[in-house]
Amino acid sequence: MVVVVKNDIDKAQQEHLVEWLRSMNIDVHETVGEFETILGLIGDTSHVDIDLINSLDIVEKVTRISEPFKNANRKFHPDDTVVDIGGFKIGGGNFQYIAGPCSVESPEQICSIARETKEAGAMLLRGGAFKPRTSPYAFQGMRAEGLKLLEKANAETGMPIVTEIMDISHLELFENVDVIQVGARNMQNFELLKELGHTDKPILLKRGLSSTMEELLMSAEYIMAGGNEKVILCERGIRTFEKYTRNTMDVSAIALLKEKSHLPVIADPSHAAGLSRLVRPLALSAVAAGADGLMIEVHNDPAHALCDGPQALTPSQFAQVVKEAEVIRKVLHGNNED
Ligand code: PEP
Ligand code: MN
Repeated sequence: MVVVVKNDIDKAQQEHLVEWLRSMNIDVHETVGEFETILGLIGDTSHVDIDLINSLDIVEKVTRISEPFKNANRKFHPDDTVVDIGGFKIGGGNFQYIAGPCSVESPEQICSIARETKEAGAMLLRGGAFKPRTSPYAFQGMRAEGLKLLEKANAETGMPIVTEIMDISHLELFENVDVIQVGARNMQNFELLKELGHTDKPILLKRGLSSTMEELLMSAEYIMAGGNEKVILCERGIRTFEKYTRNTMDVSAIALLKEKSHLPVIADPSHAAGLSRLVRPLALSAVAAGADGLMIEVHNDPAHALCDGPQALTPSQFAQVVKEAEVIRKVLHGNNED
């Protein structure tokens, strides 16, 4: 971190600042110029409040040189993290397809979608039991009963289950869930993230609707700082000025997050597009950008889905996406990887 201090100031204030920084085990190197003094801060500056320093009258500007996230940073952990979900690995060259409906609706619905997506190549089953809906009058999910139906689908197919948690008070209901999803709307629910940091379950962390990549990595940092290193990042589209799509998929985030972090990065083209016909091209672009997996909403009867029907693929459309994604993966990695 570099702090530029004005020259026409009370030097005692500058000494105060330097002393305070040194008390946090930070080395401070001063360079006095004609018009300003530059303080170079060396050491772990992740605890330093950049806004606080910026607000001081004696300070001209502050620039962070190193990133504020440590555990999630590839600089301190050059090798890819591989998250193991009941034997299904993700990251480090291991790719997974996660498929299923937006919401669990009935035993027949979830079990038939599980069977058909598994047949098409999906390894993990997704399905929302607790749903974050914009309208309080919209279907809110089957809640605890929905989790039970996911367990039933898991027992029938062996597919590990991925489902969203909205409140930490529900955690004990998630005992048999294989991957806990933190949805876009809860990406910055810091108390929830802290608690999930104390569990040993893999966490699928979705990027918030208007969050920067750094904010997503800082949210991963919250989970990891608690001791849980099994975090999977998910790009699911961000809100922009564009109205033709539900969100705008940020393909650059897939490549850049993998550069900045060792954590696996997957893409959810369903929520990015909002339109089923766009799911295929967005899914393929994510694979080409280096994603470690795809999470796609699939419904056996999209026209009658209780949630997110317009973006749902049918099982046969999903099967086609898997086939084409596999072609791209072969082009990228040859035949050596699974
Ligand atoms: C979902 O996966 O169904 C969901 C609600 O996703 P997001 O949090 O990305 O909107
Ligand atoms: Mn959905």
